[in-house]
Amino acid sequence: MEQVEFVVVGCGPAGGVAAREASRAGVRTVVLEKDSTVGAKRVCAAGLRPGFCATFDLPRAIVHCDTPRLALFDPAGKEYELAIVPGHTTTREELDGTIGDLARTDGADIRTSSLFRGLRREGNRLLIDYADLKSGEHKTIATQNVFFAQGSTAKLEDTELAYPQWQNGLVTTLQYRVYLDRPAAAVAYTSLEMHYFATLDGRMTVAWMFPKRDHLAIGLGVMGKMAGAQLREELDRFTDRVRARLYPAATFTTKLEGHLLYGGAPRPAVAVPGAMVGGTAAGLVDATNGEGIYEAAMSGRFAADAVSASRAQPHRAYQRYGTALKNRFYSRLRHRAELMRYLECKPSRYSALFDQLGKSARFVDLLQREDHERTLGDKAFLYGQALRFAARTFHG
Ligand SMILES: Cc1cc2nc3c(=O)[nH]c(=O)nc-3n(C[C@H](O)[C@H](O)[C@H](O)COP(=O)(O)OP(=O)(O)OC[C@H]3O[C@@H](n4cnc5c(N)ncnc54)[C@H](O)[C@@H]3O)c2cc1C
Repeated sequence: MEQVEFVVVGCGPAGGVAAREASRAGVRTVVLEKDSTVGAKRVCAAGLRPGFCATFDLPRAIVHCDTPRLALFDPAGKEYELAIVPGHTTTREELDGTIGDLARTDGADIRTSSLFRGLRREGNRLLIDYADLKSGEHKTIATQNVFFAQGSTAKLEDTELAYPQWQNGLVTTLQYRVYLDRPAAAVAYTSLEMHYFATLDGRMTVAWMFPKRDHLAIGLGVMGKMAGAQLREELDRFTDRVRARLYPAATFTTKLEGHLLYGGAPRPAVAVPGAMVGGTAAGLVDATNGEGIYEAAMSGRFAADAVSASRAQPHRAYQRYGTALKNRFYSRLRHRAELMRYLECKPSRYSALFDQLGKSARFVDLLQREDHERTLGDKAFLYGQALRFAARTFHG
């Protein structure tokens, strides 16, 4: 039977970065990716954090627009403008495709059209079963460590990584790529827009407009399930509002795409002997805005570090990974999931929060940072802001 040191399941940002960095460190790595082309089918607004390309050693050429402006819209449609450290936009074809190409250059064996089917334990090794969708054959690889990075559709229920609350955190999303016959208003190409409002049936939704070189990504997500026709109607209503502001006179064509996202608290168990889970499959998504590419890529880095640092004792990799991941992201992501559930209870809470953010550049700046990047003074400041927000919204 084929045997490798490290198997990665899924070649999104989490799996791609894990494969690239593990291979670079000399670890023999195989990636199983179900799609025939890496990144071709990913549905995403693809907003990137400031410095993303430098952090993950990616060419700037994948950046479509630099976005120094964040515009938040409350449930009444009022706009709050925040100055942020400029983020960027790209497309997932380019992002995932580029990471995949670089991983191959660094020696990773990326097997496309390879669908992960299951995991078995045999002594101290793992047997990974997958289907080769081109030949129709069922295949098995033996490995010492596997990194699960299949995104929101990860089926881990039958493993020790199972999380019964997972289904409750799933978000249904739908997005248009809008191709215009002439440019939209200039402000569209420097802004990330996030809108928070109630759907016709009273559920809170998060919607966005993110600019790209040749199109605008306009989409929305709702917690749980929503019938396709209803979701499409909501998206059409939202798109009409964006059109009225940003491209009233343009003619356009659209491409519709949809996928599941996760918007709950992170998965409690992310590492068991031999197996680690990262990216969206680990629930590493900021529930307030759907951001998860950075977290996914960073989890891939942690997995690669853990495997390469534990080559003499591969059974230790999972502990190293679990500790790094939880220390880095869990506190913030749990708070974001709680904040989102609190905001969703009353529309006026969004306005109160955005108003507070609009008045304090420091508050905005600190919210963009991880816990470990904050000083004691920063934490005290945030605590004060949280108390102020709670006092303003508790009764209102
Ligand atoms: C509509 C939408 C908009 C978003 N916008 C943003 C944004 O602007 N900024 C941001 O930071 N985040 C955004 N996100 C979140 C972002 O997409 C995720 O955080 C990110 O994709 C997570 O990367 P990942 O590698 O964990 O998983 P994914 O990107 O989902 O990749 C998983 C990979 O695994 C493969 N796979 C799945 N099952 C199997 C299997 N059984 N066998 C083999 N391969 C498999 C898939 O084909 C895929 O290539 C958005 C998400 C959605 C749905």
